[in-house]
Amino acid sequence: MRYISTRGQAPALSFEEVVLTGMASDGGLYVPETIPALGHDDLVAMAGLSYAEIAFRVMKPYVNGEIDDATFRGIVEEAYATFSHDAVVPLNQLDANHFLLELFHGPTLAFKDVALQLLGRILDHFLKKRGERAVIMGATSGDTGSAAIEGCRHCDNLDIFILHPYQRVSEVQRRQMTTVLADNVFNVAIEGNFDDAQAMVKASFADQSFLDGTRLVAVNSINWARIMAQVVYYVASAVALGAPHRAVSFCVPSANFGNVFAGYIAKRMGLPVKQFIIATNANDILHRTLSDNDFSRQELKATLAPSMDIVVSSNFERLLFEAYGRDGAAVKALLERFQAEPTALADAPLARLRESFASHSVDDATILEVIREAHHRTQEILDPHTATGYRAAERARADAETPVITLATAHPAKFAEAVVKAGFPGVPLPPHMDDLLEREERYTVLPAELSAVQRFVVENRR
Ligand SMILES: *Cc1c(COP(=O)(O)O)cnc(C)c1O
Repeated sequence: MRYISTRGQAPALSFEEVVLTGMASDGGLYVPETIPALGHDDLVAMAGLSYAEIAFRVMKPYVNGEIDDATFRGIVEEAYATFSHDAVVPLNQLDANHFLLELFHGPTLAFKDVALQLLGRILDHFLKKRGERAVIMGATSGDTGSAAIEGCRHCDNLDIFILHPYQRVSEVQRRQMTTVLADNVFNVAIEGNFDDAQAMVKASFADQSFLDGTRLVAVNSINWARIMAQVVYYVASAVALGAPHRAVSFCVPSANFGNVFAGYIAKRMGLPVKQFIIATNANDILHRTLSDNDFSRQELKATLAPSMDIVVSSNFERLLFEAYGRDGAAVKALLERFQAEPTALADAPLARLRESFASHSVDDATILEVIREAHHRTQEILDPHTATGYRAAERARADAETPVITLATAHPAKFAEAVVKAGFPGVPLPPHMDDLLEREERYTVLPAELSAVQRFVVENRR
């Protein structure tokens, strides 16, 4: 198994290289050269297995023997032992045929833990084998930073530096990052906004000479290992509901498209999926593209589902590569046009996408209405991201017979603002976090200057 770039001009890489690399040198994203098959008998044999065992079987072909089976099994078991529910990602039945897949039982209460608990351990394994150390840098306005910190806090060969905009993230989100007091974790509060923090991380990746030779690693959702880890819960939940004997549909609250793209890979491997429903908030580029063929940027809107506030969906490029018949040159031309002006997909690729994907966009007022309505009907309090999915599943599902699984991407306690606005007294943090507001914090405030941030990284990395 090799990995190739969606823009067709970067060298093919091994699994180890692709995990350590991030973006391809031609500006594209890496995808597997061939998609391994998950046959009827493979799916039948998964019935009743533990989540970790299903995870091992689904991911094994992507790892391609580059980690021996016993070691990889150990990594997977350790990663998912950090989840507070024995099923790791339990299914919760809402009504006759609508299910929630609860992806929020990891250390930071959002679905990003599923991938980052695994990615940190895989990176550490490869670095140790190579006798190297690496630095992770990332900018966050909330969810990703804390999940990355929790995923790396026990990694001996990694130092992680997460930049957040000073006094511009919620107290719960800040404390989830700053109360991790491990020696290899560095939180930096930038005196600026999220874009300033992001720009400094991008500049550091573009010119890594300040680290004199130490590798800089990206853990954002373009890292293939994150997609790979997310394929697993599509398979595990469909099998729990009767796959391969019965097809299911999935509804996915989406932003950078990493999550739902993983579902598409599961389908390409052989999982019987009738429909993927993409739910967006008011930042609706994915919905506009699928419904009106309007592939264009619009200004960023701050919504009640902030982890889905994006202008461009970076992983959509991976799906375009498939829709365009793996023609890297066509993808490159389309995305270069998109950078310059509003554009549209060609007819045939768009038709291909519409065979598998439907979409629906949900504004803030509707998010509040859905939180109340879902509670009235099911007694569940949904987080605002999951609420977009709940509504999209009801509005865009193709039929009532096929079970639909809505991915619950965050725990409602993490996004109390929307829950309170919807008229509820709030939701308590789960027991393992109920002292979060009393824990000791550690972070460093720095000016929004690249040289100051890079000096801090160089002086503090181990
Ligand atoms: C990151 C995130 C999303 C969006 O996922 P993508 O993979 O970027 O599409 C949705 N909900 C929550 C809570 C998130 O943290």
